[in-house]
Amino acid sequence: MPITCLDADTLDAYLQGQLEDPSLDAHLEECPACQSALDQRDAAVNGAFERLREPASATEIWEQPTFLQLVAHAKEINPAARSSGE
Ligand SMILES: [Zn+2]
Repeated sequence: MPITCLDADTLDAYLQGQLEDPSLDAHLEECPACQSALDQRDAAVNGAFERLREPASATEIWEQPTFLQLVAHAKEINPAARSSGE
């Protein structure tokens, strides 16, 4: 008997290894929708941990528009901070 697609709670429980049901495995193998849903939840969980492991990149901070605007604003306030050659 085919089971219906897994809901979010079931997918979470499955990802955490709380469910050991061969019928779930069988459904996941045959259902692209549940496979992609499972992949997305897996990636979301692992992605959060990867962001925690990776220190913020200095390059990214420098390239952020908000930061560049602050730098430009600071230069307007203090002309001495302008680079020479203007
Ligand atoms: Zn499904």
